[in-house]
Amino acid sequence: MTNKELADIMYPDVTKTIEDYETMYPERNLGEGAIVSRYAPSPTGDVHMGSLFTSLIESFLPKKFGGVFYLRIEDTDKKREVPGCVERQIKDLAAFGIVPMEGVMAPDKEVGEYGPYTQSHRLDIYHTYAKWMVEHDYAYPAFETPEELEIIRKNQEARKARIGYFGGFAKYRDVSNDEKAELIKSGTPWVLRLKSRGNYNRKCVINDLVKGKVEFPENDLDQILIKENGIPVYHFAHVIDDHLMRTTHVLRGEEWFPSVPLHIELFNLFGWKAPRYAHLSVITKIDETTGNRRKLSKRYDPEARMSYYHEEGVPVIATQKYLLTLANSNFESWLDQNPDASIYDFNFDFKKMSASGSLFDVEKLKNISRNHIARMSANEVY
Ligand code: GLU
Repeated sequence: MTNKELADIMYPDVTKTIEDYETMYPERNLGEGAIVSRYAPSPTGDVHMGSLFTSLIESFLPKKFGGVFYLRIEDTDKKREVPGCVERQIKDLAAFGIVPMEGVMAPDKEVGEYGPYTQSHRLDIYHTYAKWMVEHDYAYPAFETPEELEIIRKNQEARKARIGYFGGFAKYRDVSNDEKAELIKSGTPWVLRLKSRGNYNRKCVINDLVKGKVEFPENDLDQILIKENGIPVYHFAHVIDDHLMRTTHVLRGEEWFPSVPLHIELFNLFGWKAPRYAHLSVITKIDETTGNRRKLSKRYDPEARMSYYHEEGVPVIATQKYLLTLANSNFESWLDQNPDASIYDFNFDFKKMSASGSLFDVEKLKNISRNHIARMSANEVY
């Protein structure tokens, strides 16, 4: 059986080709140096200081350099979804002046030519790319039960081998197409796995805008791309979405940094240019009792809660200015010299972002807020 025949059995409902999507979502017609960035929350929790910081920079860049800031909802984990979350996140961001130019504007309102912007509405797109991968021998169905995977893991531990589904441990990688087709036809549950061409002993150099040049081993894991229920995992969905939505810059939490080799492998096998990545470190503070640096925590630090700023009467623009001091340490001296300038006149520089985590300083926030209020008219203050 050919790969094409197997792909047809796996994805009988796919009617489009990947070329159709390339035509539907053409390159954006933007000027030189324009930035297309996105905020891509999962509707599993409320906005917190880390997401506010990331989304502020994401919305700042296209306003500064031209381009588009859009909002995409990454709702592929239905089990963890919190009802009402999308609406709350959009409102919370808007309360800090962060409003997308495109994408999800409200729970039932999407604006723009590159949608749908909600991942659960994009399954036909993901399946079209999945089918293409199977046809080109870049992916295959795998049928292990969780118990079988556990046995593979234990076996690796016993042999002191690297843990994961790769090479000789990837049981279904080299099983014949006929056998796989039979299993599918008999109703055996399956996931779609990448057929990795990577080599763990080769290096992949990532040029991150914040972390700089970092070497990782290439990805060689046959990672799951689409789960048993037909829903993609983050890695697969992000690559397809950021390509089709013509994103130029992906800013996200540093917890995603180790996954970049997989993302680069996916971009390469589709023949696409990867966006520029900027992995932002967590915001930290000095713990008053221990004197040690630790992650800003919603539980212990009032300033980590979004309501704090509204309760304390910190004007929106002062919060934005403060967050920019966390982003680029020279922002504060620029602000001192240009108190009335628009924040968009500031020369933002990724190289000035802290790779180890900016330090939150409430006194500085209050100072910026005071200075800002002092320059407001009596009417504005009222
Ligand atoms: N949905 C992902 C998260 O909430 C977004 C990561 C990204 O921006 O690509 O962590």
